[in-house]
Parts: sequence; C-alpha cells; structure tokens
Amino acid sequence: MNFRGKNFKHKHSLGQNFIIDEFLLEDIADESHITKDDYVLEIGPGNGALTRCLLDRVKYVIAVEIDRSLIPLLKDNLKDYDNATIINADFLNYDFMNILDEFSLHGFNKDIDHIKVVANLPYYITSMIIHNLLINPYISEMTLMVQKEVAERIVATHGGRDYGILTLSCEYFAKTELLMVVSKECFMPIPKVDSAVVHFVKYENFIDLKNDENFHIEDKDEYKKLFSTIKASFSQRRKKLINSLSNVGGYNKTVLTSAFTKLNFDESVRAEDLSLEDYRKLSNLLS
Ligand code: SAM
Repeated sequence: MNFRGKNFKHKHSLGQNFIIDEFLLEDIADESHITKDDYVLEIGPGNGALTRCLLDRVKYVIAVEIDRSLIPLLKDNLKDYDNATIINADFLNYDFMNILDEFSLHGFNKDIDHIKVVANLPYYITSMIIHNLLINPYISEMTLMVQKEVAERIVATHGGRDYGILTLSCEYFAKTELLMVVSKECFMPIPKVDSAVVHFVKYENFIDLKNDENFHIEDKDEYKKLFSTIKASFSQRRKKLINSLSNVGGYNKTVLTSAFTKLNFDESVRAEDLSLEDYRKLSNLLS
C-alpha cells in the first residue's frame, strides 16, 4: 500500500493530517464496536489507511472524500477489496439519500438497518459534521477522532470549564465516551494539537423515528426552545445565568425569578452549573 502517498502534498486547508501509526489505526477499528454485519460510513478517508482496517471488519464501507487528487491513490490502496464505494464529494453538501441508495445496493434495508460512522475528522468542520450526524436518524453510532480539546468538551460534566453547548447537544442525542487520547506524533504532517477518539451511541428515540418521513428534530418546538435557552445561557458564561437569560434570552426577570424558585435554583447559578435535565425543566417553565 502506498501508505503515505509519496508525491502527495497535504492540504492544510482540508485538515489533512493522516494517521501514520499502524497500531493506532488498528486500535480505532477495534474500539469502534463494528462487526461483519455493519454498514460503515467514513468521512474523509484520505489515503485509505483507516478504511482498510474497517474493510477487514465490516460488511460494507462508503468513504466520502472531498479532495479529488486523493481519489486515484485511494482507489489504488483499496483495490484488493470488493466491499467499498468511494465517493468524491463534500460530505456537508452531499445528499445523504445517495449514500443510503448506495448502501441499499449492497443489502442495506432502509427500514431496519442503521449506519455506523468511523472517521478521523477534518478538524475545520468538526462541529458541523458532529451536528449533522447527531440529527441524522439513520446513524446509530459514531467513533470520531477530534481535537483533544473538543473531545474534552464533548464528554464534560456540568460544573466544569469544558462544559457547554457542545456537551449538551451531544448529551441530548447520545451517550458519549472518550476512548483514547492520541499524541500528535501519530499523524503526518504533525498537527499543532493532540487528538482524541470519542464514541457516541445514539439514544433509541433518535434512530427509531427514521421511519417518520416528517421527522426533523430541529423543527420540533421542544428542541428549538431547549436549545435557544441553552444558547442564551452560555452567551455570557461568566455572568449569572439569570442575567444572561434576561439580557440575551430576552426573558422577563419576574418570570425567571419565579422559575428559579420553583426549580430550587439559587439565583447565583451560572450556565455551567445546570445539567441537561435542569435545562429541560427550565425551558419548559419559560415557554
Ligand atoms: N482518514 C485519513 C486518516 O485517518 O489518516 C485522513 C483523515 S484527515 C484528518 C481528514 C480527511 O477529510 C482528509 O482526507 C480531507 O481531504 C477530508 N475532508 C476534508 N473536508 C472534507 C469534506 N467536507 N468532506 C469530505 N472529506 C473531507
């Protein structure tokens, strides 16, 4: 395998830091909870090093790579496998229905099967990709390499510095676990920061509803209300929560004081002190 892509010039603008540590590639594949029955989507296969480890372990892999110049190298590195499709596209602007249709050609049943995602993400669009995957009802699990600092925010618990909107949006959809911290030396070119792998298991209610054609979680009132409360809360995280909700959220102070009293929240609490469940109760009372 042309592992490093000898003549390939990595594009920093596309987040191209390829994994060069063979043990790490195997570890990621081993920890991804994937089996021979699984349909796996990889975003940003690069030179195909991780893709090969996945192909050995699962039923079928679709790999979506934005960089056209990598496609010949990728095809060459995957030529011994008959269970992969490479798509040259920008994942964020690609119609997901095409991915479903392609999986369907290989035995995937849209009504009962789910897709697992395994990827070393391009860091410049990490949050957008994670959001996109969380709201997608066809995706049941994700194993994602992200910047270590982002991983810490994803798995943070309330009360801490890393806890915030990213934590709460991940917690809303999935159970998350930090699988491993990865040294920057495992990549080429060496990035500025360390990385970490996080595993997400989506809650049943966000995958079962895939059969409801009209299910778009972001259009649901409860979701919109909850996250507008959360966003207003964290907009001024050094201030008291009650002030952020009044200044930025536009809520009436009397309504806020009454809600805080009902919920037994001290008026000095800050955004990071409340759990997702606390935010649920608060946003219900503020409607
Ligand atoms: N999977 C390889 C590995 O682990 O060594 C490469 C990972 S590298 C961090 C990220 C990859 O995502 C690059 O190959 C990059 O070209 C690709 N990429 C960047 N933006 C993308 C996008 N919007 N859609 C699909 N792939 C993208």
